[in-house]
Amino acid sequence: MECMSSEMKRDMEMLISQACLAGATEVRMLSPAEIAVEDRLVLFCSEPRCENYGLSPSCPPHVAGPVGFERLREKSRSALIVRLEVPSAVLFSNERKEVMRLLHEIVAGIELAAVALGYSGSKAFAGGSCKDLFCHKHLFCQVLAHEGPCRNPRMARPSMSGFGVNVAKMMEAAGWSATKNSPQADPVVEAMTWVAGLIMIA
Ligand code: SF4
Repeated sequence: MECMSSEMKRDMEMLISQACLAGATEVRMLSPAEIAVEDRLVLFCSEPRCENYGLSPSCPPHVAGPVGFERLREKSRSALIVRLEVPSAVLFSNERKEVMRLLHEIVAGIELAAVALGYSGSKAFAGGSCKDLFCHKHLFCQVLAHEGPCRNPRMARPSMSGFGVNVAKMMEAAGWSATKNSPQADPVVEAMTWVAGLIMIA
């Protein structure tokens, strides 16, 4: 990682604390170069076609994809990886959307805080479709329908998938297991899994 000024280190520590206070289990700081993107991963959004494909400006084909992420990576000074640990059963229940909304809220909050600190080009990424998570009761995304701005600008962020971010590699670079479900030897102890988000600090 490039040499970071003491002021920037302090800022990053502040952002990490804020993410943990907002509900993140852990946050790690990586060099932007450690975030791998691959063109082939974007194809998973369309083949087979995700039911939310094209329904919001946060998903393909409306996002800048790996090329756009590469441009952001070049100007970024740091990358914060947010990990939210949850019981595996929750991700297969009706509470899944609440977890994903919380993830969006955490990374969007860090992006906004980073911008307020002067890192004006910072961008946050989460997982899942904002149309599905925040606007499922509305027929259309307000932005794509040209009817106004995003209804949830302080929460909804694009999914890493549409930019080709290799989340497994990102997790490993952060020092975490990329395996979704931790093997649970003790049947009494609840099996856990995770969801992850990313904030590029620029
Ligand atoms: S209005 Fe905002 S949150 Fe809703 S689908 Fe469009 S971009 Fe996503």
